[in-house]
Amino acid sequence: MITQLAYLGIASPRSEEWRDYSTRLLGAVIAEDGPDGAVRVKVDDKGYRIAIHPSENDEFRYAGWACHNETELREYVAHLRAQGLDVHEGTEEELKERQVAELYWTQDPWGNRHEFVWGQYAHPNSFFPGRPMRGRFVTGDLGLGHIVMIVPNLEEADAFYAEKLGFKLSDRVKSDIFNLRFYHCNGRHHSLAVAEIPGMTGINHLMLEVESFDDLGTAVDLFAEDADREILLSLGRHTNDLMTSIYVQTPSSMQIEYGHGGIHVDDLTWVAGTHDLPSIWGHHRSQAYLDGPPGIFRMLDVPEDGR
Ligand code: FE
Repeated sequence: MITQLAYLGIASPRSEEWRDYSTRLLGAVIAEDGPDGAVRVKVDDKGYRIAIHPSENDEFRYAGWACHNETELREYVAHLRAQGLDVHEGTEEELKERQVAELYWTQDPWGNRHEFVWGQYAHPNSFFPGRPMRGRFVTGDLGLGHIVMIVPNLEEADAFYAEKLGFKLSDRVKSDIFNLRFYHCNGRHHSLAVAEIPGMTGINHLMLEVESFDDLGTAVDLFAEDADREILLSLGRHTNDLMTSIYVQTPSSMQIEYGHGGIHVDDLTWVAGTHDLPSIWGHHRSQAYLDGPPGIFRMLDVPEDGR
């Protein structure tokens, strides 16, 4: 089984702007560039966790999901293939670039690439925050954080992500406006969520969690004062994972949720629920949110019957 979100790769014409953004605003640091000039962002002792490849357009490139070891990874891949998924083996160049020991990949029904790996390189005691922080990012066994993918159809997404990839349902948020499913693969309430927007696919946001409430507060101040990067959703608390967070602009159209205090789930006791609102309080939408894109997305061909 996969046990954590190991890394995320996007592409953007503004990849260079991530160097200052990641360090000064997020508190992350910049690792050595990728072979194609990708800016690589480090949030813990892993070599890097986020890659922003230079490109003409904003693109979702890949999400990397880790297994504990090679035996579990190979069993997992065999399980995926037995269900009819087309799973490819990574090339030597891909292993080197992703800094992992072994890699396989497949695509979701809309062409979004998911990679399955083990042995991500790490350098103990190599992470020091890029700006003053009281604590560190919450990673370790819980992985990088969570991603929210945009999908055109929630039921088809569930058939792929839950039934085939094996993500476990944490809960749903469903209302006239929202339709999302949240999934876990470790103790973090969700490492993956899917949000339904008909006719579209892509990534809405990446969530990074900090250990200290003060470090979230510092981010609120820094983004409130920053001339270039707006707060998209004001400080608020989610109904399901009880994360207190802000959503902020990045140099690319993907958003970042910067949060603190998310709950953990235990499969022995957890009962999946459903919520009709995403937030208990806060998360008010700014004008920049209303005017901006819902993330990095592609339009899909919609059949004539509109489904
Ligand atoms: Fe989130």
